[in-house]
Amino acid sequence: MAKRVLITGAAGFLGSHLCDKFIANGFYVIGMDNLITGDLKNIEHLFGLENFEFHHHDVTKFVHIGGDLDYILHFASPASPIDYLKIPIQTLKVGSLGTHNLLGLAKEKDARILIASTSEVYGDPLVHPQSEEYFGNVNTISPRGVYDEAKRFQESITMAYHRFHRLETRIVRIFNTYGPRMRLNDGRVIPAFIGQALRGENLTIFGDGSQTRSFCYVDDQIDGIYKLLFSDYTNPINIGNPHEITIKEFAQEIVNLTGTNQKMIFKELPQDDPKQRKPDITKAKNILNWEPKVSREEGMKKTYEYFKALSPQELEKKEH
Ligand code: NAD
Ligand code: UDP
Repeated sequence: MAKRVLITGAAGFLGSHLCDKFIANGFYVIGMDNLITGDLKNIEHLFGLENFEFHHHDVTKFVHIGGDLDYILHFASPASPIDYLKIPIQTLKVGSLGTHNLLGLAKEKDARILIASTSEVYGDPLVHPQSEEYFGNVNTISPRGVYDEAKRFQESITMAYHRFHRLETRIVRIFNTYGPRMRLNDGRVIPAFIGQALRGENLTIFGDGSQTRSFCYVDDQIDGIYKLLFSDYTNPINIGNPHEITIKEFAQEIVNLTGTNQKMIFKELPQDDPKQRKPDITKAKNILNWEPKVSREEGMKKTYEYFKALSPQELEKKEH
């Protein structure tokens, strides 16, 4: 009998790639999503498969699954700053109430649960690069705080279930990940810049562009998450690509990649936008025997191909 795995946020960017990974490895996958930021087209190729089913459901409401469950991967949550500024209460609820429901379900089914946390638990970090031991620098009351604090609560309640109920838990702290199936207009920097280049618009750099990020290709991220789930490690672990770049340099890379001649324009830096971010992945290397393999050049080429193939209607669709 195939092992059964529930993936929340299944119609989103990472959730849909996780569905593919578990299907390819012979699991029975139950995808769940309320489609608030996701899109069924990310998983439409799975509909009709014998080992896939989809539940349109909001995980902040009681979650019921019939039959056995071996694993739960909780990936439901708005993930782009623009999304969670637009839907702050839902963001707080999915990280808190949603996580509570899924931990309860894991306990009921005696399933192992992996929670998607984030580098945002480090806030605007005062320590660089960020190792798992760093407690972070988060402004609880800023607009961005809704996401960061939901994720910090999520980690706390997960560890409490682990300690108190002896639940098998895993926590991945995901650093900026990119690739096909990101939403073109979700406001995150990679789809934003590629969309602007494809539409012939100026690239919008927030602030002076000196802030840094370190971008991880989706296949590497999914590999790390998969390894973590099947490891024995219960404390949070960073998964990301330590290759750091300033946003201004990155904009130049996009201009080179797309062969366009776009200008860069500077806009106001969003409140509490982290000035620097780079994962320390020593633990992932030593404990999971994982490290990223895809260079930014290779990953960005694949990502650009994906966006280039979108229809003109999709390209012009503006949400924000
Ligand atoms: P995404 O927006 O593409 O996917 C999130 C999915 O969750 C969407 O399909 C959305 O409809 C669904 N969802 C949201 N609230 C829900 C609810 N209450 N009930 C059911 N479904 C709900 O984002 P993503 O980039 O795929 O992120 C997935 C997870 O990974 C999130 O938890 C996010 O915090 C985490 N993460 C992602 C990154 C990244 O770089 N992509 C970085 C850090 C953490
Ligand atoms: N950014 C930018 N222009 C854009 C979108 C984002 O300069 O059009 C910047 C943003 O201010 C941040 C970085 O790019 O410093 C990464 O932003 P993103 O939203 O992708 O992710 P974050 O790491 O901030 O969650």
